[in-house]
Amino acid sequence: MSAVTVIDRVNGPAVSERAIHDPAIAAQLARLQAAAHGRDAHGILDLALRGELAGKTALVSSFGAESAVLLHLMAEIDPNTPVLFLNTGKLFGETLRYRDRLQELLGLGDIRSLAPHPADRAARDPEGTLWARNPDSCCDFRKVVPLKRALEGFTAQITGRKRFQTKNRAAMQAVEFFDDRFRFNPLAEWSQADLEAYTVKHALPRHPLVEDGYPSIGCMPCTRRVAAGESYRDGRWAGLEKDECGIHGVDGEGI
Ligand code: SF4
Repeated sequence: MSAVTVIDRVNGPAVSERAIHDPAIAAQLARLQAAAHGRDAHGILDLALRGELAGKTALVSSFGAESAVLLHLMAEIDPNTPVLFLNTGKLFGETLRYRDRLQELLGLGDIRSLAPHPADRAARDPEGTLWARNPDSCCDFRKVVPLKRALEGFTAQITGRKRFQTKNRAAMQAVEFFDDRFRFNPLAEWSQADLEAYTVKHALPRHPLVEDGYPSIGCMPCTRRVAAGESYRDGRWAGLEKDECGIHGVDGEGI
């Protein structure tokens, strides 16, 4: 297990208990991490989509502020990669329209919109106001549970997480294993300047709310504009300790 990093849920990238106790998983993770070493984002995506996990990998996207970059890179390799999108019922209309725009522009052939189960919604949030009283519980039934269900058919997932985004992401690796699934993070090393340069180079459309002062975009009730001098994710769950939605046990892709 020396080649494998054990996940610290607070400080960084992680490997689940199963990886620690299952030599086959540990060996496969070490192999994938070695294969990813020295590759750029396109190369890591190529490894995820055409390597030993071909056909078993889904990409998780929020269609948020920076999503176009990862989706564009993915579409160059296989635009029919399953894209899992959490339609929480609390998103900005701009996000839904942006999803449709990127789908058409990039030729994305397999976007799967995941909704919270109606029974969960009725039992846990009949008024639709749980976000104000218990955001962790709201994120759980609107994001964590639907994503877990959707990922059951996949061995690996691709995320757009970057190290610069939060302290939880600061040390993550390009390939991890968590919750019984491999996780590829092709943009782990990218900075905001890298994202901007790629966006300009490929003339990618921007999420309409970015220019309106939202550098990180999630659900409408839990996202606000960021003022001058505030940091990148200060507009998410403002005023709360919370800075992740709980997806994958630690966080999600800018969601
Ligand atoms: S981000 Fe807010 S509205 Fe969206 S699922 Fe989490 S708590 Fe609920």
